[in-house]
Amino acid sequence: MIRSLNISPNFSDNHLDACGICPHVCKVHRSIGQTGFCGAGAGSGVVSICVHHGEEPCLSGESGICNVFFGNCNLRCTYCQNIQISAPPLNGGMPELSFEEVVKRIGACLDQGCTAVGFVSPSHQVPQMKHIISLLNDCGRFPVIVYNSNGYDKLETLQSLEGLVDVYLPDFKYADDALAKTFSGVTHYVQTATAAIKEMIRQKGRKLITNDMELAVSGILIRHLVLPGYIENSIGVLNIIAEAFSPGMWVSLMAQYHPMPAVETVPGLNRSLSSAEYNRVLRHMEDLGISNGYIQELESNDCYLPDFNEFHPFEIKLT
Ligand code: SF4
Repeated sequence: MIRSLNISPNFSDNHLDACGICPHVCKVHRSIGQTGFCGAGAGSGVVSICVHHGEEPCLSGESGICNVFFGNCNLRCTYCQNIQISAPPLNGGMPELSFEEVVKRIGACLDQGCTAVGFVSPSHQVPQMKHIISLLNDCGRFPVIVYNSNGYDKLETLQSLEGLVDVYLPDFKYADDALAKTFSGVTHYVQTATAAIKEMIRQKGRKLITNDMELAVSGILIRHLVLPGYIENSIGVLNIIAEAFSPGMWVSLMAQYHPMPAVETVPGLNRSLSSAEYNRVLRHMEDLGISNGYIQELESNDCYLPDFNEFHPFEIKLT
């Protein structure tokens, strides 16, 4: 059982002043209510916690992973699949949890059998994530820590996580900076994500290490979501992974793209991925010799769309 804690509601961290936690380096003072590109403040930033069974098998296992979702984001993906929590204006209806509630709910998930805690979209909330890990450790909880980011991470911030994060789970979204600017509103994505993943490799090595239950306990798994209509981008991402890192990297190729209302007029993004497109990317992955990791079924595009108005956002509703 979780022990009672005296958790200060007044979390403060000097990195939230003149904020440069992520590559945007907005220099805003979040502790006094100023907001930058991400729109996040100085609170926990956590808007949802649930046991998730739909991650890669080495992360979910039989018991699921305890996923901790941060609201807001330091990317502005036009096709965002988590738009209910990622965009500041919409986040108004999704109150953040207190640190005390966060620790309590994570504790409940661990009591249910989860052995890993996945922090989802943490790039703009790293001080808060560290605080939560420290609170968990204070009450005797030492789960496997998974850092599930969009890849747009600042190098120095990642360096500060050495020894704290067990498994890095970064996206590598784009091989083309112009596409990253158009679809996610950021500059220098390719260079930034490449440097970030190199730092993750420096800390954890190239392999994903699993225990006797085949659950990931250390290492790195790179995710890439294939965008319909932009297959050359996916091929470019796989080329970078093979050439800049190693074809031996663990890669999770995702086909779960689901067209959201915001992109209904954007050619390509306004539909699901076709089997011809996906097969071409799969063939290229094979040609490069990337064979460690996972590929998703093409039919995944409806199964993985979360509803954050539900207590369990990823629960599949039977009709
Ligand atoms: S974390 Fe937010 S406020 Fe800080 S630099 Fe990044 S986008 Fe700007």
